[in-house]
Amino acid sequence: MRRTTVVIGAGQAGLAMSWWLAKHSIDHVVLERGEIANSWRAERWDSLRLLTPNWQSRLPGYGYRGEAPDGFRTMPETIEFIERYARSMTAPVRTHTKVTSVRRNNDGYEVVTDQGTWHAETVVLATGSCNVPQVPAVAKVVPPTITTLTSMQYRNPDQIEDGGVLVVGASASGTQIGDEIRRSGRPVTLAVGEHVRVPRTYRGRDIQWWMDAAGVLDERYDAVDDIVRARNVASLQLAGYPDRRTIDLNSLTGIGVKLVGRLAGISDGKAQFSGSLRNVCALADLKMNRLLDAIDAWASDAGLDSGVDAPHRSAPTEIEAAPPLLLDLSRGAIRTIIWATGFRPDYSWLEVPVVDAKGQIHHDGGVVVESPGLYLLGAPFLRRRKSTLIDGVGDDARELSAHLVAYLGAGTPATRPAMQALVE
Ligand SMILES: Cc1cc2nc3c(=O)[nH]c(=O)nc-3n(C[C@H](O)[C@H](O)[C@H](O)COP(=O)(O)OP(=O)(O)OC[C@H]3O[C@@H](n4cnc5c(N)ncnc54)[C@H](O)[C@@H]3O)c2cc1C
Repeated sequence: MRRTTVVIGAGQAGLAMSWWLAKHSIDHVVLERGEIANSWRAERWDSLRLLTPNWQSRLPGYGYRGEAPDGFRTMPETIEFIERYARSMTAPVRTHTKVTSVRRNNDGYEVVTDQGTWHAETVVLATGSCNVPQVPAVAKVVPPTITTLTSMQYRNPDQIEDGGVLVVGASASGTQIGDEIRRSGRPVTLAVGEHVRVPRTYRGRDIQWWMDAAGVLDERYDAVDDIVRARNVASLQLAGYPDRRTIDLNSLTGIGVKLVGRLAGISDGKAQFSGSLRNVCALADLKMNRLLDAIDAWASDAGLDSGVDAPHRSAPTEIEAAPPLLLDLSRGAIRTIIWATGFRPDYSWLEVPVVDAKGQIHHDGGVVVESPGLYLLGAPFLRRRKSTLIDGVGDDARELSAHLVAYLGAGTPATRPAMQALVE
């Protein structure tokens, strides 16, 4: 089977690319190992709602048209939204088609699946950046009496036995899961490393509205000082609760969650926590206030001051005088540990030598320079700060599809110039 382009993955990224390829009249297929929007179906917990408001889901040729633009989608609503998007453009998706290898050959690429082999001049990898939970090495020495789960395996508090829970990681997943489990009545300890604190609402508007309007989310990958660091920044401490409440360490302390520092190790059945809790919280407060300062400056320049509430700042994160540095895991106080420590992509099936030692693809804004005709979409800060968001992938897909068209137009596989020459 042959197409000009094979897109792998039918999440928002693969579908946004499909929309642009159709616009450019590039014949293509989208291969998906499960169903459309598979990650939203299979890899999220039950109560999760998007932390981006409904209006913030502008995909190419598609967007929110309902009556609750400021609401937050549940998972079934998110799946339906993405499915409808695929239907609206009659995307050429082959579901239940798992790609098992991608290799380069003289004509381009050979894409082997469990349903047959495809040949294409160009391939777009849109397989997601959250395929595998990133669990710290200390997980191996957790006492066997304790049940461990990743945030991808967690579904709801009923799944967890009674007793204390240690949640490791205080970004979007860890804070939301910790909040939900605490509210179910269990004692929760939250191990907190570097994190990004933001209020849900600022000066009467949603924080995402401000970041979108002020251009924070449009910041480009080639304009930041340290793109490697920017690509590794944790997700915002933010949740899409219907009551729009802010989730942060103060709100968690307020419901009885115990805060400890980053999990540094486990030795002789005792968890050891870093003594840096106060510092990482002070840093997160400082960065949040810097973001709000930038928003205030932008609001003044844009002449918005009279139309929105006055600037205000949240209380600093409260930390107890001497947070515990040790927790004995063998005493039965902790029955479950939940790893909310992030994810990484899985390219174990990619037989093109472009993956670095950390499992990340080497690319320039999604153009895989070392392998002509190969593109990446949906990775953190791929071309913009918003690259992984539903709302952000469309701009990247537009630019990469234009690059792909230029690449195809530049000759045959044998005569084309190197990819680099085509990088914008
Ligand atoms: C817990 C969580 C909450 C999030 N909340 C939000 C939010 O509120 N708002 C927002 O905008 N973003 C959010 N995101 C970020 C982002 O929108 C999602 O991660 C989204 O799923 C990324 O879309 P994608 O198309 O890049 O990847 P995915 O949705 O992961 O799609 C990749 C697809 O590729 C398929 N695939 C993978 N490997 C293969 C293979 N070998 N062969 C064939 N198919 C394959 C997968 O089955 C999957 O369907 C969240 C992410 C997480 C993890």
